[in-house]
Amino acid sequence: MSAGTVHHIEDVRRGYTMEADAVVVGSGPGGFVAADNLAAAGMKVVLLEAGPEVKPEAMTREAPRFLAKHYWEGGMRLVGGSAPNPAMSGRCLGGSTVVNSAIMLPLPHWVRDEWTRDDHLGSVVRDASFDRAFARVFERTKTQPTPMTVMGRRNLLMKEALEAAGIEGKPLPRAVDQCEGCADCITGCHEGRKQSVDRAYMPAFLAHGGEVMTCSVVDEVLVEGGRAVGVRGKVVDIDGWRTTGHFTVRAPRVIMAAGVAHTPIILKQSGITGGGLVGESLYVHLTGGGVAVMDEIVDPWHGATQGWGAFSPEIRGLKYEALWAAPSLIAVNWGAMGAPWLRGLDEVRHAAVFAMVYKGRVSGRVRRWFYGQPRLEIRIPKDEIRVLMRGLKTLVDGFLRIGARGVQTTVFGVPERIKNERESELLLSKRIGPRDCHMTFNHMFGSCRMSGDPRRGPVDLEGRVRGVEGVWVTDASLFPGPSAVNPQATIMALSDVVSRRIAGLAA
Ligand SMILES: Cc1cc2nc3c(=O)[nH]c(=O)nc-3n(C[C@H](O)[C@H](O)[C@H](O)COP(=O)(O)OP(=O)(O)OC[C@H]3O[C@@H](n4cnc5c(N)ncnc54)[C@H](O)[C@@H]3O)c2cc1C
Ligand code: SF4
Repeated sequence: MSAGTVHHIEDVRRGYTMEADAVVVGSGPGGFVAADNLAAAGMKVVLLEAGPEVKPEAMTREAPRFLAKHYWEGGMRLVGGSAPNPAMSGRCLGGSTVVNSAIMLPLPHWVRDEWTRDDHLGSVVRDASFDRAFARVFERTKTQPTPMTVMGRRNLLMKEALEAAGIEGKPLPRAVDQCEGCADCITGCHEGRKQSVDRAYMPAFLAHGGEVMTCSVVDEVLVEGGRAVGVRGKVVDIDGWRTTGHFTVRAPRVIMAAGVAHTPIILKQSGITGGGLVGESLYVHLTGGGVAVMDEIVDPWHGATQGWGAFSPEIRGLKYEALWAAPSLIAVNWGAMGAPWLRGLDEVRHAAVFAMVYKGRVSGRVRRWFYGQPRLEIRIPKDEIRVLMRGLKTLVDGFLRIGARGVQTTVFGVPERIKNERESELLLSKRIGPRDCHMTFNHMFGSCRMSGDPRRGPVDLEGRVRGVEGVWVTDASLFPGPSAVNPQATIMALSDVVSRRIAGLAA
């Protein structure tokens, strides 16, 4: 078999027609793992990606420029509902694994138990094959604890603040080979060290004869006589604005992995509703965080982006992480505009930034909006904000105990800079609700839930969409609820399990 090729805009501009044994829609973790397994099993596989390929040498560290080009809606896609906030996701070959912090954690057993209890996923997530899938995924992505040598002062301050709060943390395991600690994960990986799926999976996929078509936006799954026969869509320029051609790929197997926002929209546009449940559920991790201003110089741009973290011992499903991103993004938490904001810039060298993710009980849905774009909505109970605030107070106090001059949080309605533990008490005020919290919903799940109960989810335990033959889902849309940990390893493991079954590979 001859090796496959990555086709760029120059090759596909005028459109194309292809035939294959399987077509995979979307090249994130859910898409690439499935594509690689199917190709390894000897199938002719075409992988379609809406965005372009971004090689390390073409990655700019200028965040606004990078985000505008390689994130959906410039990284500012709005999630409406109780608290309008942005959701970020990558629009490039490799999906969000190109732009994320590469944290890799297995799905906790207590979450597996919940998924088994509520959606009968025991045969998937409690089976030994699921653990073997995690082992394969960790090996392929060279997952390893972040080395202490690239922590930088910012991650070490996080360690100290957690310890001061009575919480033991550890170096976060990440899919990075020899991280340089440049803290620029949000704009890719200039050094080419991050093992995003285009690096970890693409070479083998191409060697197995797989074809990658970039700048190819799938609009519709083609269905004839109740069976999928392929997909069609449009070729767009690198920025994603202008249509330059159209394509059709005919294949008897369609694997949907366009991400939580797009997978349900494409299915619905094709008249595939999974009994009316496609897009009728949506979950996110609630988030919070802040900036601790220290007396010492931290130079937060040194050190792995998210090198140190911990699970809360008190609040199940709440996780703390050190963080850095481009100043233009972090500045959102600086709280001021104009002259006060400029004065605040003097303190950037003293900043230690942290984040929290929390598996709160939220509910939501994905609807089709103008021009076929997804419209996302999330409802957040006020009780869950209280839990999040308890977690935030704990870490704010930790930073104050190690000598922070003050801590600016992502919460409105409390002092802009919390200077002592009396002021941090205000985080627990009953007045604080979802709209008082600035969050970023980068962890989204569950728009096409996998469930053993057809009344709860449109996808069965084999990953098949109910009501149509030949369509599977392998991305984060599958999750029947939030994962409580950073999701990409679980997405890859689920995709591995589902696609091995399609391909007839040993589990
Ligand atoms: C800034 C950031 C940091 C994060 N950090 C971490 C982390 O450290 N660890 C972790 O576990 N998770 C992290 N996440 C979350 C994680 O990256 C995502 O949960 C995961 O990538 C989702 O995988 P997916 O396959 O479902 O979708 P995606 O990764 O979103 O991939 C979907 C792909 O489909 C493409 N696509 C969409 N529509 C179409 C269409 N119509 N036709 C063709 N292609 C289409 C998209 O362009 C994209 O490439 C982070 C996310 C972000 C944004
Ligand atoms: S910190 Fe820098 S070198 Fe390490 S993975 Fe992120 S971008 Fe790559």
